[in-house]
Amino acid sequence: MNSPAAAAAAPALPSSARPSGALPTDSLASGYWQDLATPDFARVDPARTIALLPVAAIEQHGPHLPLCTDALINQAVVSRALAHLPASASVLVLPALNVGDSLEHTAFPGTLSADMEALLGLWLSVGRGVARAGVRKLVIFNSHGGQRAHVDLAALRLRVAHGLLVARAHSFSFGVPPGLFEADELAHGLHGGAVETSLVMHLRPDLVRTPALADFQSLGATLARRGGLLGAEKPVGMGWMTQDLNPHGACGDARAASADKGERLLEHLAGCLVQLLAEMEAMPLPSASGSASASESASPRASA
Ligand SMILES: [Zn+2]
Repeated sequence: MNSPAAAAAAPALPSSARPSGALPTDSLASGYWQDLATPDFARVDPARTIALLPVAAIEQHGPHLPLCTDALINQAVVSRALAHLPASASVLVLPALNVGDSLEHTAFPGTLSADMEALLGLWLSVGRGVARAGVRKLVIFNSHGGQRAHVDLAALRLRVAHGLLVARAHSFSFGVPPGLFEADELAHGLHGGAVETSLVMHLRPDLVRTPALADFQSLGATLARRGGLLGAEKPVGMGWMTQDLNPHGACGDARAASADKGERLLEHLAGCLVQLLAEMEAMPLPSASGSASASESASPRASA
């Protein structure tokens, strides 16, 4: 059902796209955006329908994991979450944008990388299409640590330009089930370590080069042991190329990985995404305009 404010704020579909007669009454079931046809969008409920944009990377993951690691993880989490969604949910999964900004991995052959400006432009264009279809809620689901800043920027730009409510969801922000991995590994196994290797072992064991599994020591772990301020990521991070952290392009102990850990982690990540989607569904829509009306309504004069 449409709240009056949301209905007024949403970009209107051309009248020819609406079935003749009354406003839509049945809701749009969850599924893949590209499987719909134009008339289906007449059933978008701006307050409830959520578009989900998977963004990943095709980049080197050390000598033991495939280039598709981030894309594989992303696709698996999304499809499992989709299977767990309640029937009442209306979540539309957009085409996965699997080439990301992997500048820090470009010294290693096989890495594909889009420049930040090009990538952001593409994401914003997709967001514009989402808004044009009458959808006001978007979750950007990102599985590549090197493009966190891009996701943050896209979310704010889409909020301002199109009045979208955008969640900046990173798979690595969902945490892990307690006891599954060592704290040190979680802190420094940033890339191709036990976490990612476990997931690929579960999802595509045929793509794991088992003889190449190793403990890829990271400069970040060395700096952390010194206890200073400067680290790879924190307390104060630095702009690093992967080879600065480890010459093999991986960080973390891949020997500590197992398919069983990967399966449990995947279930956890999918559960987190389902929870996030429910929280997004419950969120009220922002006003359709940019920052001006929001700051006005927050002022004492406007609220009096
Ligand atoms: Zn990765």
